[in-house]
Amino acid sequence: MRKPRRTLDWKEYENINKYASSEKRLKKFSTEGYLKVALIYPNSYKTLAGNLGFHRVFEVANSIPGVSCERFFYDKRFNRFYSLDSLRPLDEFKIWMFSISYELDFFNLMDILKKLRIPLLVHKRGERHPLIVIGGPLVTINPNLFVHIADIIYHGEAEVNLSHLLNKISESLHKEKEKLLKKVSELENISVPILNKMAHEEAIYRDVIHDPAGSVFLSKFGEFGDVFLIEVGRGCFRGCKFCTIGNLYGYFRPIRVESFIKKVEDTLSQIDNIRDFKMGLVAPAVNDHPKFDEILDYLERRNIRFSLSSLRVDKIDEKLLKGLLRSGQNMLTIAPETGSEKMREFLNKNISDEEIYDKVSMARKLGFKKIKLYLMIGLPEETKEDLELSAKMIDRISSMGFNEIVISVNPFVPKPGTPLENHKFLSIKELLEKQEVLKVKLKNVKVNFESLRESFIQYKLDHLDSRKSLKVIQVFDANGKQETFKLLKEMK
Ligand code: SF4
Repeated sequence: MRKPRRTLDWKEYENINKYASSEKRLKKFSTEGYLKVALIYPNSYKTLAGNLGFHRVFEVANSIPGVSCERFFYDKRFNRFYSLDSLRPLDEFKIWMFSISYELDFFNLMDILKKLRIPLLVHKRGERHPLIVIGGPLVTINPNLFVHIADIIYHGEAEVNLSHLLNKISESLHKEKEKLLKKVSELENISVPILNKMAHEEAIYRDVIHDPAGSVFLSKFGEFGDVFLIEVGRGCFRGCKFCTIGNLYGYFRPIRVESFIKKVEDTLSQIDNIRDFKMGLVAPAVNDHPKFDEILDYLERRNIRFSLSSLRVDKIDEKLLKGLLRSGQNMLTIAPETGSEKMREFLNKNISDEEIYDKVSMARKLGFKKIKLYLMIGLPEETKEDLELSAKMIDRISSMGFNEIVISVNPFVPKPGTPLENHKFLSIKELLEKQEVLKVKLKNVKVNFESLRESFIQYKLDHLDSRKSLKVIQVFDANGKQETFKLLKEMK
């Protein structure tokens, strides 16, 4: 293992060591496999640790005989990028596997390649360069972003094909890159752009109902602290028109209660002090689980504290709220999206105003002290009246006596693959005007507006075709991020 020589590199090394040594590993993996794979999350350690999908890829890759997979994350100050698992630098790995969740991570991915002097464009890389594999939710949203960078694009969920992919790579590791890529291109759900092989199949893991993903390490530096994350379902049957999960990520697969309990019990057997244990239940809408009552009963019986990644307002009930209060949660988070019932109907988010008020008031009466609401602006056909209805909803909820009310307002970003994909992203001027309507009406409430600039960049990246994505990569390579933002702004 090479140790840093420069002071700057030592700083980076120590920074990574700080996170690595904070972790409690629930599963231990060897770092001495024949095929050494770097799994790179081009975002902070905090988001890496809070991303259950990332935990799962790490676990799946390490369960393949002969494979050692190690984790890396991004920080703009880093130059060498050391592994969280062995503290080896990234350039000692031949296989670099990126997991991309968010649009802006695209720039971080390119920054990592640039810093380590790896040509961004696939046709400029040779035998001595690492093999670049790219997968994750953003690949599902817009694979065009990656066709000029990736040697291999991985589509869909890790459990379906990752073992086939890494086995193929392992078998052909000492062959020329072209031969290796030809072998890999035989696989379903895998694209090899340089060989013009593009895959469009769905890769859905059906057996997840018996085999839920759970955290494989815990750290106080994670987004949710050292909470054990576990999934209770994948996919969503609701089909809200703006949502990628309901339209792109496969059908609804609720986890079997027996499998959920087994996973939790296995984890508890490794925890020293169960009283400190807290769980985060993860699903697109956790309380849509058809046997959610049984899950709540189990958590109560075992006296386990829990929180939820997200919930359906209309399905909130007393039992759930009391369970959350027992777990020390006094903030209710809901996403009505808009205060206009007509607009919610249009979006296919069929929840009435009365249902929202009933459930929020139930939470208040039971003892919830804080509430957080997610709203959108810039929806198709949205009028000033719709925005005023959002303000009215907030007013009414404010009057229920919460100590704190937090409003998060996001501009609507039309996502590819959803029924609203062809709607436009409003101009910054139009969105600012809409923000103003809310600000005027909500003088006494704290409203957090999501960055319009970042949302605009997201929109542009989501809809880039392959020709434009090439231009974006070239400009980033030559002139950096700010010039790329300018280019995206000008692009029609
Ligand atoms: S917004 Fe929520 S309920 Fe609607 S489709 Fe998406 S995940 Fe499902």
